[in-house]
Amino acid sequence: MRLQSTLSGTMEELNPTDGTVRMYVCGPTVYDRFHIGNARPFLVFDALRRYMESRGLTVIYVQNITDVEDKIIARAAEEGKTPAEVAAYYTEKYYQDCAALGIKPPTHSPRATEYIPQMIELTQKLVDKGHAYVVDGDVYFSVASFPEYGRLSGRDLEELEAGARIAISEGKQDPLDFALWKASKPGEPSWPSPWGDGRPGWHTECVAMVQDILGETADIHAGGYDLVFPHHENELAQARAITGKPLARIWLHNGLLTINGQRMGKSLGNFEYAHAVAERHGTEPIRYFYLSRDWRKPLDFSHEGVQEAARAVQRVYSFLWEAEGLPDEPPSSDSLLPKLDELESKYHAALEEDFNTAGGLGILQEIIGQAHRHRSAVGDPGSLRAAAALVRRLAEPLGLFQSARPGAEGLAEQLIDLLVELRSQLRSERLFPLADHVRDRLAELGIELRDGPHGTVWSLSQEAEDTTGSTQSGPA
Ligand SMILES: [Zn+2]
Repeated sequence: MRLQSTLSGTMEELNPTDGTVRMYVCGPTVYDRFHIGNARPFLVFDALRRYMESRGLTVIYVQNITDVEDKIIARAAEEGKTPAEVAAYYTEKYYQDCAALGIKPPTHSPRATEYIPQMIELTQKLVDKGHAYVVDGDVYFSVASFPEYGRLSGRDLEELEAGARIAISEGKQDPLDFALWKASKPGEPSWPSPWGDGRPGWHTECVAMVQDILGETADIHAGGYDLVFPHHENELAQARAITGKPLARIWLHNGLLTINGQRMGKSLGNFEYAHAVAERHGTEPIRYFYLSRDWRKPLDFSHEGVQEAARAVQRVYSFLWEAEGLPDEPPSSDSLLPKLDELESKYHAALEEDFNTAGGLGILQEIIGQAHRHRSAVGDPGSLRAAAALVRRLAEPLGLFQSARPGAEGLAEQLIDLLVELRSQLRSERLFPLADHVRDRLAELGIELRDGPHGTVWSLSQEAEDTTGSTQSGPA
């Protein structure tokens, strides 16, 4: 598999020597439920992980939980709770909301507060090596001490300096310097350190957790494009300043979600919560909406867009359920199987070249198109069943197209509605004998119709309800 790294800008071979991929995806700051834009990296990189697993790789998938940060402290003050209570509540919600999107739990979900000793050690090493300095209990990373700074985000240090000059803050030697450790104000969560009581900076948290769990260099470090600068630039600088080695071999960043062409964000107030969108549209339409587009590019969110994805998902299911209901016969002599083999290879070629899920899903659509054409030309239920089985198998790592046909219980109600509608049409066309026949036959099955000013409603008669219970009383 090859993936384009943000750092080199070129395709890099994944090729883990021991068959294990060590992967870190920046996780949520737990001060609120996450929005549909935050959900994009969670979902896309979850699919990447599952795809790699389906190809026989072992994936150590780490997604941290930032449970100490300014926003959590602010939220706690607003709600009259402790920061720990706020963090615990939204951590639970994060797990629930990920499950609602069909995201597999990470192999590791480290909480920042469980790694404070490692963060202090990391900060101390940077101070010892002359890459950091202490001012009144705060510790800052000295950007000037690390000449490679700006490489990941492709920014020029001098330009950055010019932009940052206005935002100079007290104590820093240089406006670009960032906090590794922050002295705590009264009432804030704090831990003892060589520089006094305080708490780690966000950029330091991730580096400590990556290195503790995955070692000096991870295979993949990923997140949304908004994390490239400054978060990942700062992570990269700290790690390299300590070990002299890259923090990750491959850096991946997904494009941001926009809404009406504008960036979506909590601070902008134009966001939609992921759990609310999942409740409204269901899980698969959201997954299809994301995975059928180029995940590196910005994507404009709209409910219409997700509804369109829902219709595409439904069309695939119509094919699958119909094909799976066909007679279980061997494929005919001029079967579709060679074509299916070819399309399967194409599917993997798409996913193995920069995880092109949009191309992969296009190939699943092509399999269905070929199956439809083959049916009109040859019939051959065996080939259609094979095509359906292939679509299911290939889509499994993407978390798509695994549902069985809805059970007969759900269908029965829809069929009754259909007959009631049909009877109304017959009556409006004055075909009364036929309409009465439908009503009488339904009555024999224990389904009573009542005509009212707002149309016809149906209910199960008492006898019919009894027969669905444990006592087998026949119709009266
Ligand atoms: Zn991070």
